[in-house]
Amino acid sequence: MMNVLKNRMLKGVVTRHFDRDLNIQVESMGLELKELIHKKFGRSLHIREVDTGSCGACESELISANNPIYDLQRFGVSFVASPRHADALLVIGPLSKNMVIALKKTYEAMPEPKFVITLGDCALDGGIFKGSYYVKDAVKEILPVVLHIPGCPPKPLDILNALLGFLGR
Ligand code: SF4
Repeated sequence: MMNVLKNRMLKGVVTRHFDRDLNIQVESMGLELKELIHKKFGRSLHIREVDTGSCGACESELISANNPIYDLQRFGVSFVASPRHADALLVIGPLSKNMVIALKKTYEAMPEPKFVITLGDCALDGGIFKGSYYVKDAVKEILPVVLHIPGCPPKPLDILNALLGFLGR
């Protein structure tokens, strides 16, 4: 117990305080997104994510978008394990050669209507891995990408913002 108290006194508070402004922003953007999703789909938007060779940071930000601060699920964005249940395919990372077939098969397994989103600069054209021996063409060369979310990596608010812009068209 003494060690815990000593540690606390020496290090101070190491966790960050909850950002109320961010919370207000997420809440208002999220409610708008929820309305758009309901209008377009009549239910939640189901997304199947495939990492085709990312460094992990884009994926990490996507995971953050589902943490208790952003909690995209409460606004009707669900990440599903099976492509059979997905409306959208979200691709992260440069398209590595050994993921081409898996990516195509995932897309083919999805029911119509369906659409493809790329997240992060690598998914657009290989990004910093462009020209590497293991990177194939851009995702858009093999699948019909309708939305790209730029950034290296894009933050959860960027993801929310891009979905809002796309569904609001
Ligand atoms: S866009 Fe940046 S963060 Fe995302 S996979 Fe590529 S290098 Fe990593």
